[in-house]
Amino acid sequence: MAYQYDDQNVFAKILRGEIPNDTVLETEHSLAFRDIRPQAPLHVLVIPKGPYVTFDHFAQEASEAEIVDYVRAVGQVCSMEGVAVDGWRLIANAGQNGVQEVPHLHVHILGGRVLGRMLERA
Ligand code: AMP
Repeated sequence: MAYQYDDQNVFAKILRGEIPNDTVLETEHSLAFRDIRPQAPLHVLVIPKGPYVTFDHFAQEASEAEIVDYVRAVGQVCSMEGVAVDGWRLIANAGQNGVQEVPHLHVHILGGRVLGRMLERA
């Protein structure tokens, strides 16, 4: 599959500094910031700085340095926000069936309350 990256998406604008964000962590290849419409007491998004649409796109085309940086950034946010003891959830929505709103890879880190079952029927 050929992935088409739209550089006008809101997270591309955040990475270019055109839109403000509430940064939690910035690393060489990744940025973590608070979701503008939090769905839990902790709701942080982690994005790679590179132009990847979905997790599968990233897994196929990102360099090992980007992948290591990204996974470590997720772990670092969990550590900084102190969610390891009580538990937390990682979500990556992709494409139409995944109901992905922003076409730049992001994982949601959610915590701070019991999050309920993983899926509800739409
Ligand atoms: P998804 O449905 O997985 O694509 O989720 C996109 C997420 O991005 C939603 O939770 C939005 O609240 C969040 N979002 C959209 N615009 C911004 C923004 N400017 N800053 C922070 N979060 C945003």
